[in-house]
Formats: sequence, structure tokens, C-alpha cells
Amino acid sequence: MANYFDENTFVYRDGEYLKAADALTHLYGQTLHYGYGAFEGIRAYETVTGATKIFKAKEHFDRLERSAKLLNLPYHWTTGELIEASYEVLKRNNHKAAYVRPLVYAPANMGFNPNEKSHIVIETWPMQPFLGEKLLSVFISSYQRPNPKGFKIEAKACGHYVNSILASHEAKANGYDEALLFDMDGYVAEAPGANIFMEKDGKLFTPALGNILPGITRATVIELANVLGISVEEKQITPEELLAADSAFFCGTAAEVIGIASINKKDFPKPWSDSIGARIQAAYHDLVREDFSDRKYSAKEKLETSNG
Ligand code: PMP
Repeated sequence: MANYFDENTFVYRDGEYLKAADALTHLYGQTLHYGYGAFEGIRAYETVTGATKIFKAKEHFDRLERSAKLLNLPYHWTTGELIEASYEVLKRNNHKAAYVRPLVYAPANMGFNPNEKSHIVIETWPMQPFLGEKLLSVFISSYQRPNPKGFKIEAKACGHYVNSILASHEAKANGYDEALLFDMDGYVAEAPGANIFMEKDGKLFTPALGNILPGITRATVIELANVLGISVEEKQITPEELLAADSAFFCGTAAEVIGIASINKKDFPKPWSDSIGARIQAAYHDLVREDFSDRKYSAKEKLETSNG
């Protein structure tokens, strides 16, 4: 089992900083039993100046609030106070770079009726790129992403991740690195925990919003592509279009930008190092570490302001 905490680890919970080992809870909540909760996946990076910077902190905590409200989870906090608490947990845990995980969870209630309050916890732990750093062999999942008519698909809801876990297990059991899921209409959707882009004839394409999680990294990739003068189209992508692409990559906070070697054993023809994805990967790496030293980008200021 991975070591997420030890006796020195702090978490933030409901306004207090507690030792993780003492932050106990009962076993009668809708989050544990029914997956009724909302969370975020955020990364703090050590920048080139040695400072710790939470990448797109505001965007992530704003999305947490949106997710909670979409699910009717009472939400008692401001983005500002949660960003401050996250920096404090990082500091108390001596994490210069880490994954930051806020979770909004429900109080004791075994029925389906609404709650008057929610709890929040913020945890941090060191995390390598979630899908590794090698090009991925990807498996087309037999699972579809949740039907947006049955779920608030744009919310980062705990229960949605049953679908992600099933798809990931299936891909790994078949000898692949990660899954790719289609939406209920059979269009390309996303990975269990990342969005997807494909390159064709010098352009990037990514599934339109509606049946996917609106990824913050996805939005960052679109910004970077704009700065680099690469055209991006958001549209419904058929499996055939994806398999005929020149190259493709996944992106997400935990996964960062990671190239895909093949889908169901069919290799993409373009070498990763020549792909648009590789340029975006390098630019993303620089952006999160605030490394603008070699002035690779013409719109440097635009990038700096985008790193909120
Ligand atoms: N899709 C899903 C299903 C995810 O869980 C994630 C990770 N949060 C993403 C996409 C990527 O989102 P982000 O870039 O905001 O991390």
C-alpha cells in the first residue's frame, strides 16, 4: 500500500490543521456509502525560483465549489481561504511539490435527503506523473463514460470514479497501460482521469464539452496551443478519426501531458518527439514551473497571467 501519510502528516479539516492520523470520521456518511461527494486533484510545483506554487489554484477551487453546488452539497468556504489552507498544509508537511487533494464530504445521513452541512478535508502527498513518463499503450474500454442525463458529468463527483476504476482495471487486466472511454453516443470521450487530444495534419482536436470532465489541463493545453500558434478544434471525434490521427496525448493535473504510443495495438505514425504533443508537453512543463527563461514563447506575459 502506498504511503500517503505518517505520524507527522497534517491535513486541514473544517478550519483546523490536524494530524492525519487523528483526523478520524464515523462510517455513516453518504460519501462513503453512496459516492456522494466532490473532490479536486491539484498540483503544487516547485518553481524555478524555488518557491512552491499551486498551479491554477483558483480554477481548481472554483471547480470544487461548482461541483459541490451541482450535487446540492452545502458549501461553506471561499476559494481564497481554501487556497491559503492548501499552502499551509504544504508548508506543515514540508512539501515543496505535491499533489493537493480537497474532498467535500457529507455528514452522517444514511437516507437520500439533503444535508444541512458538509465537511472539507485537504490532504497533500508527493506524487510522480500519474501515468508514468513513457508513451502509453491504450485500450478502448468496454465501459462508456457516465450518461450526462444520469449524472452531473461536469462535476468532479466521487461516485463517477467507480466508472474510472472499472475502466482502468479492465485496461490493465488486458495488459495495457490505460483505458480510453467513449461517450454514450460512441464518440471519443476521455481517459479514466485525463482528457485526450489528437493531432491531424498539423492541427489539434479534442472532444467538445458536454460528455467529459472540463479539464483544467485541457484548457491550459488550448491556451498553450494558442500561444504557440497551433490551431485547436473542439468537436465530436469518432473512433475512426482518432485511429487515423498522426499522434495523440492524454492530459490532466495528475498525468500532466503524456503521449500515447498506440490504441488497441495500433501505433500512431508520427514519432512523439516530432509531434505537437511533445511541444505542448515541454511548454506545460515550463509553465507549471514558471520557467520562462529562454523566452520560447512570443506571448510570455499571456502565459504568466494564465498561471493564476
Ligand atoms: N477527466 C477526468 C475523468 C478526470 O478525472 C480528470 C482529472 N481531474 C481529467 C479529465 C483532467 O482534469 P484536470 O486537467 O482538471 O486535472
